[in-house]
Amino acid sequence: MNEPAPALPIPPGSSFALMTSPDTERHATAGVHKPVVILPLGAVEQHGPHLPLGVDCWLAEAVALAAAEGQASMRVAEPFAYGSSEHHRSFSGTMSLSPQTFIAVLVDLCTCLAEDGYLPVMLNGHGGNRAAIQVAITTLGKRG
Ligand SMILES: [Zn+2]
Repeated sequence: MNEPAPALPIPPGSSFALMTSPDTERHATAGVHKPVVILPLGAVEQHGPHLPLGVDCWLAEAVALAAAEGQASMRVAEPFAYGSSEHHRSFSGTMSLSPQTFIAVLVDLCTCLAEDGYLPVMLNGHGGNRAAIQVAITTLGKRG
């Protein structure tokens, strides 16, 4: 008699990174519609004396995993933990990307997913990322 497999920290079937490259080729072309890959976005920054630096990313990833759970056409990419937090740089522990760098990263990652047949969806956990995400979306839109 087979025992059920122990629970993984990431629900099987939801994680993009647990797939192999051949898996992604099959997955991207399996359905009528493009499958979705959610890219959780966060920030490493101060959140007062009571919350850890990485909370924005963890919340975004948790929401993404909940949304994708049981959805054959959705996967969750490895979260991108760093964001735009210049306004918090005076607090120790805050690590911020310049807007140009952050926009370039978002455009590059989403372009990779789109070129491989996926519909990339950014799921943001940090308000300070909004303007850069909007610029990245506009840039991606202009590229088709
Ligand atoms: Zn934040």
